[in-house]
Amino acid sequence: MSELECRPGCAACCIAPSISTIGKAAMLPCASLSDEGLCSLFGRPERPAVCLSLKPSREMCGSSREEALAYLAALEAATAPGT
Ligand code: SF4
Ligand code: SF4
Repeated sequence: MSELECRPGCAACCIAPSISTIGKAAMLPCASLSDEGLCSLFGRPERPAVCLSLKPSREMCGSSREEALAYLAALEAATAPGT
């Protein structure tokens, strides 16, 4: 299977998930996300390991930003502590 490319300007996975190591809440844009939808920590050691390990996939990315946000929101809800 060929590797999927990240969709430019999508940033769904920098918005929907919570990331405890950087205090990022779910469904809010990451503080490190630029107005252009790019990660300002890219290539820096402060970039969370979870972001480094996340790779685009058909399942997660879907065919639009809206699909990706819906998938990631559902995943977040399913894995939120206390649920
Ligand atoms: S959901 Fe997929 S396409 Fe969208 S920013 Fe994340 S990796 Fe890229
Ligand atoms: S640190 Fe960068 S890659 Fe990770 S969620 Fe924030 S903007 Fe996205």
